[in-house]
Amino acid sequence: MNNNFEYQTEQFADIRILRYQVPGFEGLTLNQKLLIYFLSEAAHCGRDILWDQNCECNLLVRKCLENIYLSFKGERDNANFRDFEIYLKRIWFSNGIHHHYSMDKFIPRFSKVYFDELIKLSDWSEWNCDNLNDQITAIKEVLFDSSVLSKRVSLDAENDLLEGSANNYYQGVTQPEAEAFYKQKSEEAGDNRISFGLNSTLVKRDGKIKEDIWSVEGKYAEAIIEIVKWLEKALDYAENDKQRFVIEKLIAFYRTGDLQMFDDYSIAWVKDLDSRIDFVNGFIEVYGDSLGIKGSWESIVNFKDEEATKRTQIIGENAQWFEDHSPVDPQHKKETVKGVSAKVITVAMLGGDCHPATPIGINLPNADWIREEYGSKSVTIENITHAYHMSSLKSGMLEEFSGSQEEVKRAKEYGYVSGNLHTDLHECLGHGSGKMMPGVVSEDLKSYASTIEETRADLFALYFMLDDKTIELGLLPNKEAAYAEYDAYIRNGLVTQLVRVESGKDIEESHMRNRQLIAAWTFEKGKENKTIEKCVVGGKTYFSIKDYKRLKELFGQLLKEVQRIKSEGDYEAAMRLVEAYGVKIDTELHEEILERYKLLGLAPYAGFINPEYNLVRDGESIVDVEITYPNDFADQMIKYSNEYAYL
Ligand code: ZN
Repeated sequence: MNNNFEYQTEQFADIRILRYQVPGFEGLTLNQKLLIYFLSEAAHCGRDILWDQNCECNLLVRKCLENIYLSFKGERDNANFRDFEIYLKRIWFSNGIHHHYSMDKFIPRFSKVYFDELIKLSDWSEWNCDNLNDQITAIKEVLFDSSVLSKRVSLDAENDLLEGSANNYYQGVTQPEAEAFYKQKSEEAGDNRISFGLNSTLVKRDGKIKEDIWSVEGKYAEAIIEIVKWLEKALDYAENDKQRFVIEKLIAFYRTGDLQMFDDYSIAWVKDLDSRIDFVNGFIEVYGDSLGIKGSWESIVNFKDEEATKRTQIIGENAQWFEDHSPVDPQHKKETVKGVSAKVITVAMLGGDCHPATPIGINLPNADWIREEYGSKSVTIENITHAYHMSSLKSGMLEEFSGSQEEVKRAKEYGYVSGNLHTDLHECLGHGSGKMMPGVVSEDLKSYASTIEETRADLFALYFMLDDKTIELGLLPNKEAAYAEYDAYIRNGLVTQLVRVESGKDIEESHMRNRQLIAAWTFEKGKENKTIEKCVVGGKTYFSIKDYKRLKELFGQLLKEVQRIKSEGDYEAAMRLVEAYGVKIDTELHEEILERYKLLGLAPYAGFINPEYNLVRDGESIVDVEITYPNDFADQMIKYSNEYAYL
């Protein structure tokens, strides 16, 4: 790893742009490098699908703004144009007009009048349409009217979730209609547990509800054909038969749109454990749909970090011990934990819903029944967490929001190690633990399903973090390291994550809800025994843990209840718990935190510029794949829009 590597390249609005290194790439074989190269090309080709999924107007808006950006002949060196650039960068970062995290539409800082000037002084000669003026009028409404398409994913359970959501998964369909449609599908299917609706837009035409399937012959065909083209090239470089089979199944799924084949692919993928290179490519996560049915397109190409994987292997080998010793009700536990495969990976390419903002761990497949019968693959993405860690050391956040010098010291010494272990436990064990009661499915918890699931996985990790077992297994050097994670979790759940929420707003995002839920619940339940102490010094509020052992017990109590809710599909209890602890913010504390945070001059969100891979040729033959690390976010976005604009 290059120690002089610059991680952060720029900051704008609430966003920092970072880069990540790909240590170990040079040491791969040419065959492996080529496999990564072709899978990386496939990882770029679905970008426009995601943009269209996020909102129907996104691609038009992006193309319009990019045309201005590239052809505007007016003055660029002024505040107005800089505001325009920031707005475009925010759109690139969010893959659309809505904030990637809060899901709210953001409004430009420049005026409508200035927008008219931008339009007037740009070149539209290559703009392929007869009614430019009508399009501009429509775009203006989208950009400047805050009541239009105001939220990408609504979780406001009091109103129709689909009407409240600006995403493009349902067209002209109400929530009850969509729910009835998929209920009927799964009833008709009987024992067949296909993830109905995962790869389609549900539309109402002439009073009839039907699905537009995303496939080589259906919706998004132009992009999917390209994905398939690169996957076919990748086939030639598969490391072994198992991996070849995985790629073949995925291609078959894209060709037919048949979800049975997606399940076949997922099962084959779970079973492919020996390959060094791995990838995700498809319609995967359902967070972008308030009903949790539709999969957003994403891709991650990666290879195993063999040294760091030893740590997660230890966790995997002891999975049964953890399940047996978890504090949940015996009837909600798995008798046998299957196939917990865990590894640490180095990401080589991010695409679709994993870029520019990216997860730090993944645990797939999502289908509960495949997880129960075949297990799941769980990974920690350590070159990403490392980039975050390196860029955070200089931020001043820790010093500002920690309750004591001791806490700061502990975080600097152990924060990286214990943060990684939390992710491992969350991904390798947390999501895979527990058992559903007969007939219960995750979707029974509706809009609370994601929050409850993340709460469960986090609690499982937190509970065992401070167990003697983690030290015995050599996963942590000592209890201090576990304390560092407890400090960080409570500090984040009650304080620092609130910097991501606008003044006066509720918490919407599932992971944020889950973190506050856990921190606020344990704070309240531990009040009597002073488990966590709240103190105000010089107008600054701090939360300090006074009794770590007692906090561990509280994590265990809550885990037991959350597992019960999940196992029994207790919607009412999920709603009560999430609404009571995960949604509302103490407004006075919130204002104080925002004020303190503002003084630090930081941006709360970060995302990444991808590396680039180029084929090195000697005459006819390819002799190497070269990796470079570009450092200009806008350049990369324009490049992607030029080279991978299929829709
Ligand atoms: Zn998770």
